[in-house]
Amino acid sequence: MNAPHPIDWHARAAALTPDGRAFIGGERVAGRSGETFAKRSPVDGRLLGAIVRGQAADIDAAVAAARAAFDDGRWSRRSPAQRKKLLQRFAELLLAAREELALLETLDMGKPIQHALAVDVPAAARCIAWYAEAIDKLYDEIAPTGQNALALIQREAIGVVGVVVPWNYPMIMAAWKLGPALATGNSVVLKPSEKSPLTALRLAEIAVQAGLPPGVFNVVPGFGNEAGEALGLHPDVDAIGFTGSTRTGRRMLDYAGRSNLKRVYNELGGKSAFLVFDDFDDLARAARTVAGAMFFNQGESCNAPSRVLVQDSIAERFVELVAAEAPKYQPGDPLAADTVMGAIVDELQLHTVLGYIEAGHSEGARAVVGGRQTRQDSGGFFVEPTIFDGVDNQMRIAREEIFGPVMSVLRFKTEAEAVALANDSSYGLQASVWSSHIDRAHRVARALKAGTVHVNQYDEDDITVPFGGYKQSGNGRDKSLHAFDKYTELKTTWLRI
Ligand code: NAD
Repeated sequence: MNAPHPIDWHARAAALTPDGRAFIGGERVAGRSGETFAKRSPVDGRLLGAIVRGQAADIDAAVAAARAAFDDGRWSRRSPAQRKKLLQRFAELLLAAREELALLETLDMGKPIQHALAVDVPAAARCIAWYAEAIDKLYDEIAPTGQNALALIQREAIGVVGVVVPWNYPMIMAAWKLGPALATGNSVVLKPSEKSPLTALRLAEIAVQAGLPPGVFNVVPGFGNEAGEALGLHPDVDAIGFTGSTRTGRRMLDYAGRSNLKRVYNELGGKSAFLVFDDFDDLARAARTVAGAMFFNQGESCNAPSRVLVQDSIAERFVELVAAEAPKYQPGDPLAADTVMGAIVDELQLHTVLGYIEAGHSEGARAVVGGRQTRQDSGGFFVEPTIFDGVDNQMRIAREEIFGPVMSVLRFKTEAEAVALANDSSYGLQASVWSSHIDRAHRVARALKAGTVHVNQYDEDDITVPFGGYKQSGNGRDKSLHAFDKYTELKTTWLRI
């Protein structure tokens, strides 16, 4: 048998003409104001298209379409089994469009095509399929009350859900909200990031192709302070599922307070600590793991282990081992099949990352590897994997989320100091403990204030487990059955019998 021809992603990219119109009421529409913005690729600067610059009037139209769809029951009152069937079809069609979606994601936000193909599309499809599978297996409750009364406790769809997502995993972040929100019968208005709007628009088209009724899933692209703010303030939106920065999460809470007290579920930033104790017996594996997790997706992951806390006696050796991993993550052409680190999402983010590297130098941290912009002749935005040693927890590179391929190594002497350092952060998304002693691993894991703690690994991930943070990393949880809580109200009905 002949081996399949490798795909020429450059040729496919050249042939693409993405549609930047909004998707409202089951069809593509121009923005009410006629305004668009030019979307360029961080891969090589090419123009991808003119994208609708959604304004309050577009959000009004999308919310009205979502409300009409919710109120007439075309989706909300279908049986769970019927919704399941259509959402399963939606997931199948996402997989069928895998190559197109992966290419759009890579061109839009710069990640390597092999990751978009192997991670982003399958994870988004699996998420939709998993919630579809789950929804007809959930039962309501009857409370154990008195002889002559019966209390039914039921979950009801909340209504119109506004979804606002970031650019780092555009499809996966959207799917984490769409899966539970749609499976429970809500209608959705999604505002993707202005930096990565293309796959969200295709998702909505594919959903309708799968048979979801028009108006159930709408997408309005645009900027945060325009379309995003209009959605957050809209009086007819019942809940906001938000993923993004802590700064914008605060705004979402403020919008709700100023409008209708809509429920706000925030999944926000992180500065996750990775604690390595000197009793751990496989430092090379720990080093491989932290480099892989830190530099995946160009370091643009909310749960990147960007604060590495190492016990003094092994610190020199550990830093050498991590530094030796860095060459594997040299940025390359995102459209080449073997590239493992792609482009930073845009010029603004490039300068943010370079600014943090500058701050690391000026605050006295020691640069071990990297630190420079690279591949400038490509027309795209690339930064070398960068490691700082000798970082103090008060430095900006230890306290602030960089969202780029920059790792900070801090040293500690005792277990108590390690826990105190790890918890001395306004964030609490994830953490990881490396120790060969189960009692220490367990003790430290319990003491860490983070929504997820990994012990002697960092890679495990599954749709069945909740994802979210303590403190200013957010509230509510994406993924798992717990996500249903965000998109449903609990109703009690008392019956006299
Ligand atoms: P961001 O907050 O700038 O933008 C996120 C979304 O909010 C975008 O769609 C944007 O247009 C919109 N937005 C921006 N300003 C707004 C405003 N004033 N009103 C309404 N909407 C507004 O974040 P980002 O730079 O796109 O994404 C990076 C952040 O996302 C990081 O902090 C990262 O940690 C976080 N993140 C968290 C998770 C998680 O699950 N906890 C996952 C991925 C990313």
